Amino acid sequence: MPEVIKNLINSISYLPWIWEKSATKLAFFLLNANQNYIENFSENLKNLKENIWFCKSCNSICDKNKETCNICNNQNRNKNLIAVVEEYLDLLTIEETWWFNWVYHVLWWAISPINWVFIWDLKFEELFSKIVDSEEKIELILATNPNIEWEATASYITEEIEKRKIKYKTKITRLSRWLSSWYIEYADNITLVNAFKERKEV
Ligand SMILES: [Zn+2]
Repeated sequence: MPEVIKNLINSISYLPWIWEKSATKLAFFLLNANQNYIENFSENLKNLKENIWFCKSCNSICDKNKETCNICNNQNRNKNLIAVVEEYLDLLTIEETWWFNWVYHVLWWAISPINWVFIWDLKFEELFSKIVDSEEKIELILATNPNIEWEATASYITEEIEKRKIKYKTKITRLSRWLSSWYIEYADNITLVNAFKERKEV
């Protein structure tokens, strides 16, 4: 097989959820795709890194010509209420309910040593500094998904807040049983809204 195709297969295999056989199939699909599509595709990939970065405040995605995202820039958002989510997709799902007026902190991962995701890979420090820097009490809504990784992540945040002696400035809440066996991204609007509205302090 030509080196160029092998390299492409390698790049595709690096993506999550893609097995080597699917990577090979995708590479041959691209080989047969029309020129316009390929040019557009490579342009979009290039733009991704050139034009997008992470919000300096909440770690969500943001245009590179801005320091912070639209949600953080919005004066009407309650900065003392922070929903901590694993993924940007969770943020989008919550925003689609049009119900809440808080800000977010996106971790992008949950702690999972088995998958080589460690505490230092996640943006916890930025989260803790928000509490330290705030003059008012902050509510952290741990918008956790039902799995071991998220349990570990939630425990770490809770313990660390105790350890850093900032518990008096923090109210930590978890979602109610409404969402006990659902991932945020798959929950329907009503379940999601109820789970957040009936959140409980831990
Ligand atoms: Zn932001």
